Amino acid sequence: MKAGPEPIEILVNQLSKLPGIGRKSAQRLAYHIVSLPEEQVRELAVAVYNGKKNVHFCPVCGNYTVKDPCALCSDATRDPSMICVVRDPRDVAAMERMRDYTGVYHVLHGVISPMDGIGPDQIRIRELLERLADGTVREVVLATNPDIEGEATASYIARLIKPLSVRVTRIAHGVPVGGSLEYTDEVTLLKAFEGRREI
Ligand SMILES: [Zn+2]
Repeated sequence: MKAGPEPIEILVNQLSKLPGIGRKSAQRLAYHIVSLPEEQVRELAVAVYNGKKNVHFCPVCGNYTVKDPCALCSDATRDPSMICVVRDPRDVAAMERMRDYTGVYHVLHGVISPMDGIGPDQIRIRELLERLADGTVREVVLATNPDIEGEATASYIARLIKPLSVRVTRIAHGVPVGGSLEYTDEVTLLKAFEGRREI
């Protein structure tokens, strides 16, 4: 059933492709957008487009950035001897909210998931190993989520790194099993980080 004129339908279809936006929410947003002043809609459209166009992955850590390397990698006050390995850029944001971590990051852009056809070569494990080659890094903290894929990925990486005589630790299970770093409060995340163990 068509709810409105075609341009609104096109907008609804696009909005409903976004995560967490169902058909009803998409319709509400679409009607809201067309009711706005044209200038405001232009600003929204430009922000959406520039948000995509101007942001890319840091060639070092894989986090989102507008410059190379990113602000975290080029920050001289951060400790380059410690790398925290996370699944995606949202996890970097979660770790940074914790404020106590002063090392650098490595974003895998996924986790090993045979069910989804994602093997070790599809995520940034090779890039991580390359970062360990010059001996600067002394500890790698594996902070993938404590779900099945996150644990499997952590074990896989730990096995690869151990022979390189780099300390490998895993965040403790203050993060609920099956949970996600992104939705973990800072205190729990800090406890999980402090309680990290060698694996
Ligand atoms: Zn970076």
